[in-house]
Amino acid sequence: MSKLFKRTKILATIGPATFSKEKIEDLIMAGVNGCRLNFSHGDYVERDQQIQWIREAAEKKGRSVAILQDLQGPKIRLGDLRDNHYDVKKGDHFILDHAVEEHKGDNVLPVQYNLADKVKVDEPISLFDGKVKTHVVRVLSKTAIEVEAENDGFLMSHKGLNLPDTDFGGDIITEKDMADIEFGASRDFDFVALSFVQSASDIEKLRQILLSHGSTAQIIAKIETKKAIETDEAMEAIVEASDGIMVARGDMAVEAGAEVVPIVQRKLIAMCREHSKICIVATQMMGSMVDNPEPTRAEVSDVANAVIQGADAVMLSDETANGKYPLETVKAMKKVILYTQNHSHVSPINHEVTGDFKNYDAISNAVTALSEKIDADIIICQTATGATAAAISAQRPKLPIITVTSNARVAGQLALTYANSAFVRPYTETYGLDLAQELKEQGYLQVEEGKKDLLAVIISGHKDEMGGTDTIQLVHV
Ligand code: ATP
Ligand code: MG
Ligand code: MG
Repeated sequence: MSKLFKRTKILATIGPATFSKEKIEDLIMAGVNGCRLNFSHGDYVERDQQIQWIREAAEKKGRSVAILQDLQGPKIRLGDLRDNHYDVKKGDHFILDHAVEEHKGDNVLPVQYNLADKVKVDEPISLFDGKVKTHVVRVLSKTAIEVEAENDGFLMSHKGLNLPDTDFGGDIITEKDMADIEFGASRDFDFVALSFVQSASDIEKLRQILLSHGSTAQIIAKIETKKAIETDEAMEAIVEASDGIMVARGDMAVEAGAEVVPIVQRKLIAMCREHSKICIVATQMMGSMVDNPEPTRAEVSDVANAVIQGADAVMLSDETANGKYPLETVKAMKKVILYTQNHSHVSPINHEVTGDFKNYDAISNAVTALSEKIDADIIICQTATGATAAAISAQRPKLPIITVTSNARVAGQLALTYANSAFVRPYTETYGLDLAQELKEQGYLQVEEGKKDLLAVIISGHKDEMGGTDTIQLVHV
């Protein structure tokens, strides 16, 4: 049965292309494990609708589906453009004006942030994920700057600007983010992703703000600024402060150069595994499927490489938010994940057994080694806090892990964790064989064709609390 379970998970951005109950349900049935709601776009009414549809579809499937709130952070965006389109030719001059509300079709474009007192002449500004490159020609007024285009292209409403050499200083959590965090806390999202993280202190600040709203959402640091990837130490400090990271390759490529991305990706995945943190690889994984029903060979290879490197999850952005073939993209991605995992394996790492995580590390090391040596079919983990289940995932076992927990929050967070398929089940005094049999009857365990039963390694506890794991059993079911 291990061949049928995706070990690397799929996180899909929900947007105009997937804005209906049926479309969201189709994505989840096709293998989406988590939904990303990008708070750069859309309003709260739309969000509530999406949240309801996601939760209904998850219920129908009988599996937890994570909801990730992606905060805009200090990203500067264009305002509304007339006809949602503005053509640019190399050498064109155009104006970015914060005081302008409406684009009249001329070369004065509204921008959501006042750049006039921040930029210097000759500093680069890239627009639309780096598709249009410009530099500052002069500052025109207290609210407007003039830029010159360095290539042909076009712009659309609300597309982002990157100013890699401009110093904005200060706090990366904006007023808009503060309002969005409060909204998110009241909707109980599983994850909050912070854009343009510069250092571990940004994460610590967000953690305090979340706690002040009573939220226990896990924090995903989006790694995309020059500063965050300047040194291995800088990256590692962010990994340690967060619950997981996103290799946000889109803005990273614009800010630091596309050539740095593959190496940074490898390093981040390795660091996350070392620290038992979630690692999500994002942006353009199947980008050409925005317009085409099939991925390119390079995209297939990109997804496969993330799987081989041991990422917890791969993400879709424009493909499912804006594209013509959202469902086909998810299906294509799932196919690549399954084939790759079934024909290669991620080498396990034995976590050092020290400090606060002694129990989880020791148990997870033992369980992973044991299950592989006896050629078991599945690991079943009964957990209260999810710590044991997460520690086993971080080992990158070859087997699927089925996690049962009485805590819906834990199940939601494990949905994006490697090889872990979690669902909520009230805590009962059912362990070992009885638990496995119950799961089999409910259809969660499937015996492979030609076999009469399956061998499960079951980890459970006689107490539904932190550190309650006390039993490892091997059962044929
Ligand atoms: P980020 O840098 O955070 O990725 P982005 O603008 O690239 O921001 P994506 O989440 O990658 O946004 O989505 C790609 C595109 O899909 C967006 O630029 C936007 O045009 C569209 N989109 C995504 N979510 C929504 C939404 N909720 N409402 C409207 N459009 C959306
Ligand atoms: Mg981004
Ligand atoms: Mg994007």
